[in-house]
Amino acid sequence: MKRVFHFGTILLMSLAGSAAAQAQSRPLPTSDVQKVYDRLLEQIDAIPIYDNHSHATFPDDSDMDAMASPPEESTVMRLRDSNPEFVAAAKALFGYPYDDFKPEHAKWLIDKKKAAEAAGGTAYWDGILDKMNIETCLANRVALAPYLDPKRFHWVFFVDSFLFPFDNHKLIAKNGDLGVYLPLQEKVLARYMQQENVNGLPADLAGYEAFLRQTLADNQKKGGVAMKFEAAYFRALFFRDPPREKAEAIYSQFRAGGLPSEDDYQTFQDYVFRMLIDQAAKLKLSVHFHSAVGIGDYFSLRNGHPLNLENVLRDPRYRHVNFVLIHGGYPYTLDMIWLTAAKNVYTDSSLMGYYVYPSELKNILKQWISLYPEKIMFGSDAFPFNDAVGAEETFWLAARSARTAVAAALAELVAEGAFTEQKALELARLYLHDNAAKLYGEKQ
Ligand SMILES: [Zn+2]
Repeated sequence: MKRVFHFGTILLMSLAGSAAAQAQSRPLPTSDVQKVYDRLLEQIDAIPIYDNHSHATFPDDSDMDAMASPPEESTVMRLRDSNPEFVAAAKALFGYPYDDFKPEHAKWLIDKKKAAEAAGGTAYWDGILDKMNIETCLANRVALAPYLDPKRFHWVFFVDSFLFPFDNHKLIAKNGDLGVYLPLQEKVLARYMQQENVNGLPADLAGYEAFLRQTLADNQKKGGVAMKFEAAYFRALFFRDPPREKAEAIYSQFRAGGLPSEDDYQTFQDYVFRMLIDQAAKLKLSVHFHSAVGIGDYFSLRNGHPLNLENVLRDPRYRHVNFVLIHGGYPYTLDMIWLTAAKNVYTDSSLMGYYVYPSELKNILKQWISLYPEKIMFGSDAFPFNDAVGAEETFWLAARSARTAVAAALAELVAEGAFTEQKALELARLYLHDNAAKLYGEKQ
């Protein structure tokens, strides 16, 4: 018995030894990395995408976002009109017969899209998704659109407007970006009040809270799957935890007029923010945050840094709330992936996936996949740039970039000996589809 046991131990040790030797990963890929990439990409193209973040819309639909771009903002190189990839997108999607967007050429594309909009129905946008093998898509919108099929497009609604019920003149005057953003927030709040038949701000904080709770519940009934904060555009993502009495006093003082100090306004917002999170927990709504650089020339990198949210994300009171940090915290993508170490925190590659070229997206995804592959999702941030280059082309650019980048990241890891091609495809499926499907409670 003793000898057999001894022999068994030696056998196990040597097996473990050879497996370990085979599994030893290397810092450089083997020379067949291109072949591994080609094989993986072919199969990755067949994976249906679940898009965690988009603004699927026609360009003249003002419900596409609760925000708008400030005039004259600086644009990153890849998103300028001169990017030839947009021509490639229009060719792939529509058979666009020209090689540039000169006005007389762009008209061909604009006419096609206008005709689709005029025709009505949901077939057009379903067809756009089909062309890119996108199965399901979250649509960030002020309100649902009749031209989006609710089976394919799930609604994410905005809640920042609840943070701005008082006189906002002081904030509006602060800079040109806020001068564009805040009047739009006031409009969204007015729209929610109309939706809930609320005439003027309720008499006390309890009334205001009831209005908020009812709006969230009604939006969920209409199909809302998540609430979205674009707060990083307006203030720091650091939220304190003030007592209700403080918020109540500020509400009573400024409900009917008067300019709150910056500190009073923020205290009120901190309270309302936490109340909205509590409500998300009750309704089982995911909570989305803009968590990256933003458009506009006055966006504060420091205020928008995702680490500001750490006290909220790591608060045991909110452990049942699923937090989704949109845009990968870019450029703080490494901080971001460590925030997703918490079981209820997720991120996606939207926006950054078309800010940078696939070679750089590959590097970011390689790091993310190596750390928490169950917490990362694809997001397109599809958005219309003008009447010619629309959400259609940005869907295409984001989807092509992500499929090629994740194939390249995984090919390198396979060729470096980290894991097998089969495992690589499992990981690609998590990123492109399964993690999001699971998060929003759908089939995988
Ligand atoms: Zn977006």
